[in-house]
Amino acid sequence: MDLSIEKVREAHQTLAELSFEKKPVVRGYANRTLYINLSDHSIQIKPVTQQMKDLFTGGRGFCLWLLWNAVRDDTRWDDPENELVIAGGPIGGITAYPGTGKCTAVTISPLTKSIIDSNGGGYFGPYLKFAGFDALEVQGIADREVVIFIDGVSGVVRIEDAPLEPMDTHLLNPILFDLYAEDERGKRNLSSVTAGSAAEYVPMCGLNISYYDPRRKEIRIKQAARGGAGTVLRQKNIKAIVVRTPDVRGDSNGVANMDLIRKAGQRINKEITEFDSSQNDMAGTGTPYLVEIMSRFDLLPIENFRFGSDDRAAQIAGEIWKPMFDRRGPDGCWYGCTMACAHAVPHFHLTTGPYKGQVVFVDGPEYETLGAMASNLSIWDPGQMLELNFYADTYGIDTISLGNSIAFAMECYEYGILTKERTGGLDLTWGNFESTITLIHQMAHGEGFGVIVGQGTRYMAELFAEKYGADPQLMKDIAMHVKGMEISEYIPKESLAQQGGYALATKGAQHDEAWLIFMDMVHKQLPSFEDKAEALWYFPLWRTWFSLHGLCKLPWNDIIPTSNRSLPPKEAAKVPEHVENYRWLHEGVTGVPVTIEDILVQSERVYQFQRVFAARLGYGTREYDYPPYRAMGPVTVKEYESRAERYDTQLKEEVGLQLDGMTTEQKMAALRKYREERYDKLVDAVYRRRGWNHNGIPTVETLRKLGIDFPEVVAVVNKFGE
Ligand code: SF4
Repeated sequence: MDLSIEKVREAHQTLAELSFEKKPVVRGYANRTLYINLSDHSIQIKPVTQQMKDLFTGGRGFCLWLLWNAVRDDTRWDDPENELVIAGGPIGGITAYPGTGKCTAVTISPLTKSIIDSNGGGYFGPYLKFAGFDALEVQGIADREVVIFIDGVSGVVRIEDAPLEPMDTHLLNPILFDLYAEDERGKRNLSSVTAGSAAEYVPMCGLNISYYDPRRKEIRIKQAARGGAGTVLRQKNIKAIVVRTPDVRGDSNGVANMDLIRKAGQRINKEITEFDSSQNDMAGTGTPYLVEIMSRFDLLPIENFRFGSDDRAAQIAGEIWKPMFDRRGPDGCWYGCTMACAHAVPHFHLTTGPYKGQVVFVDGPEYETLGAMASNLSIWDPGQMLELNFYADTYGIDTISLGNSIAFAMECYEYGILTKERTGGLDLTWGNFESTITLIHQMAHGEGFGVIVGQGTRYMAELFAEKYGADPQLMKDIAMHVKGMEISEYIPKESLAQQGGYALATKGAQHDEAWLIFMDMVHKQLPSFEDKAEALWYFPLWRTWFSLHGLCKLPWNDIIPTSNRSLPPKEAAKVPEHVENYRWLHEGVTGVPVTIEDILVQSERVYQFQRVFAARLGYGTREYDYPPYRAMGPVTVKEYESRAERYDTQLKEEVGLQLDGMTTEQKMAALRKYREERYDKLVDAVYRRRGWNHNGIPTVETLRKLGIDFPEVVAVVNKFGE
């Protein structure tokens, strides 16, 4: 089919349109949100109230509040009532400080069935605000394929039918950018949200957020990958959401005090210039620098999290990728991000699938993709990694969920639970690239065993026990997810605090909430349950704050200032100088000075509210707060023996056992009892610190203290008792 832009344009009938008055952003807020219902084609503009700002701040807070008011207690992810809500945040969009271009998507998840939030870089959050809206909520289901176009230049929102465009992101984006930009320069003012063809068949698909890179003349993509927001996008029959902004200027955010913002920006930019290359080398290597470190500390997932290090990790380490990355310009995924870590590999020749023979630009790989799709599957070839990375992205699949799910299937294949007969002929031995890429293509075409794998680890664990007679306990122990969301790519076995970091996160096992492995396991700064509970209170709240304001976490602690050197280690982990920068940014943008306590309260309101929201949907209680045992300790003899010295020492020194004459199986059972009891004690300590009851429900007193004790919120809490 000859898909000329003229043909595509002709086919775009306007289904609904609303003109709106253009208004400047004032002190970080557009002061309006946009509501679109695809079932009845209604488009509304809603005011942002002072109460919304006071209680929910912006970003993820706004998303949760809007969604709470849109759904019923029994709304399912695929009901028309479910919404996809996306917002940046008040600080997001400034250009004088690195990492201010993030947005957060919130929805009821097809993967977890509960409430999820997923953050992504790229330009969509700031552009949505500069176009006129602090948040976008999309409800209903279109009866045909549509594109939503939000035009902040002419002041129009349109729902257009879009029958001709292809689904996969690398084909769809160039058409969208040609369609909605007046000329080449105009592409800079566009950002799109898309998914990919796999989002029609599997629940683990994320959002691709795209922007134009004028130096390379490429459309770049970043993902809000976790929890299935892309599957929701496609279930609503949305091909894309496109926003067009007026030109971005240094003062587009209508800030209160630019000098204060510049002061913070100059301080951190100087540090990045001086220290980045000798610290994490984000501008040169980006997140792949972590591969080597994780393998060295026995934390890199190998073969479904069984092992933590492998000499072959050197084949996919940062220094392999660095010379392959495109150097035609800086790699910030928002204006002014001097961390510039969003690297990409140009001119990659595809060797499989529907696009075989095409030469493509591959955004990534990031560390999480390498952990999930390379080491965890024992695929160590960089070229094969790029092929997997590219297809996962263009099909819209979250690489963390994807990698863990394939790893789970490979382990089941090793144990004979899966056979070639059951996989449709695929040989799922470790390291089999051909089978792995075939599974991914199958997910995009809704066929074969790939569709089963694409349902995720929780689904497969239940299915294989029921259908193939697999031991249900083994299935539970090795399915690396929490609450249905696959675990990020750091082995938490030897860090109790990180087990809590994953399993006590409201949405599921995602590392953006708490990353405590080094503090706990390596530096031993959290010796008591109370120390761990305190860290599991402070850090999730601190990190929540980024998602309220449209900020990227990386500039907070991936560059370390010299002022940290004189601090006690536990204080140093908070990077106080950068916390001060964020206080200046808040005051600089909104005009409202904040202390660190104010920051934590802003976050806590949203955090506790999200926990109640999960409970409202039937999930946010204690039984969902447990990781699979493999996240706590060794499930198999082979695993125990790979770290026997560590485990034996723990049994002797902490449990007080005499090990002479004990078999490995007996030692494993003793270790499991000890570690499971220890985890239970941690849960109790964290619940106390967070102001939750024994069942993990925030108490009414906790809600009252934060001012979010609305009758409908208290009613949810009361259902579970004190
Ligand atoms: S630090 Fe990296 S991921 Fe974060 S905004 Fe900058 S370029 Fe994007």
